[in-house]
Amino acid sequence: MADSIVVSDTTRVGPKQFDLDRCVHCGLCLNACPTYRELGLEMDSPRGRVYQMVQVSNGAPITPSYEEHIGLCLACRGCETACPSGVPYGRMVEDARAQIESQVKRGRAATWLRQFVFRKLLVSPRLLTAAGAMIYLSERIGLKGLMRVLGACHIGGRWGEIAQLAPSAEPPFFFSQIGKTFPAEGQTRHRVAFLAGCIANVSFARLNEATVRVLQKNGCEVVIPEGQTCCGALHLHSGLREDAQRLARRNIDALEKGGYDAILTNAAGCGSTLKEYGELLADDPQYAAKAHAFAAQVRDVTEFLDGIELNRQMTPLNAVVTYQDSCHLLHGQRVRTAPRKLLAAMPGVQFREMRGSDICCGSAGIYNVVQNEMSMQILGSKMKSVNATDATIIATANPGCMLQLEAGVRMHGKEQKVMHVIELLDRAYGA
Ligand code: SF4
Ligand code: SF4
Repeated sequence: MADSIVVSDTTRVGPKQFDLDRCVHCGLCLNACPTYRELGLEMDSPRGRVYQMVQVSNGAPITPSYEEHIGLCLACRGCETACPSGVPYGRMVEDARAQIESQVKRGRAATWLRQFVFRKLLVSPRLLTAAGAMIYLSERIGLKGLMRVLGACHIGGRWGEIAQLAPSAEPPFFFSQIGKTFPAEGQTRHRVAFLAGCIANVSFARLNEATVRVLQKNGCEVVIPEGQTCCGALHLHSGLREDAQRLARRNIDALEKGGYDAILTNAAGCGSTLKEYGELLADDPQYAAKAHAFAAQVRDVTEFLDGIELNRQMTPLNAVVTYQDSCHLLHGQRVRTAPRKLLAAMPGVQFREMRGSDICCGSAGIYNVVQNEMSMQILGSKMKSVNATDATIIATANPGCMLQLEAGVRMHGKEQKVMHVIELLDRAYGA
């Protein structure tokens, strides 16, 4: 953390005492933690991180070492699922990061970059479109491909590896669909709102289109509400709680009068945060009740489809498929069976469960960029499990995981194809 210095602000935000008190230091979470599995260090385990949070809560200073151990956490919440005491680790690490953010002064360049990414780029369709155009151009002139080849050959250091993770641009971007309503095929059985994400409008435009098609095939009128914005998940995970709250209020305002049966997302990372809007705005008297009502309507698209009568008019896919759980779907939303049941419903899919499918792939929002070395180490381990299945398709339920696994295939794989469960379903419906 060379660009940060500790300042003397003594503002005591941070993990709540009643959350910290829940940990009984049993260590049952250790094996569920990807950073502990890789490093074997107590300070990089959930129990070790909780211990460090307790020290800070008791008045110890925030040191670069504390920042490093909290920063190395993926916020994957695998430890939450493993913990018998119900330690709400995800909330605690967000609070710890917010505390670090409030007390640590960053260098000018780092501050500018964070402000630009979180306060301008992610919330501006115009800037995201411009960024998408630049990515598209770099792909057309071969620059991105060159960087990826260099990265695969371990030339160009970290930048070569980070280039493996750069999202593609998929024109025409999905921003053009915002504000539109797509009718159900056949009888309308449900009226749903679809939240299209931020970067996903540029980099997963085809996935968003496939999502709309699959919902239409299942009797849904799909509204892409005007005024929707980034869900705030990346802000929240980076300690920018107030920014996340502002974005939550905008999304609530945009959707509250829609009268939808459900609010859907195809990104597990977004869904996890959208379902926590009630908690995020609990102290806001004007929005607390509205946030709670909004959160109660949010469903991951796989969860929603599993809960309705699925259209089974599909053509066989003839593929061997394995599934990587998205942490924010499995550990954040406790949705495990829905994507597997959808895969099982597709004719011609031979499903092979991989070992450790519940362990993070190392994507974790922007973790794979800011903690690239650890992320790549975790990805290497993940690809060994993937390769052992001999599956030709790796299915998952989160765009961020797709990018990470695609990089994994390029660096360690056997030319597997990475697909969202919804893309497979879309193909089964004949797209
Ligand atoms: S976080 Fe939970 S599982 Fe881990 S040491 Fe604490 S009580 Fe045990
Ligand atoms: S959130 Fe994930 S990386 Fe962080 S301590 Fe828990 S299991 Fe480990």
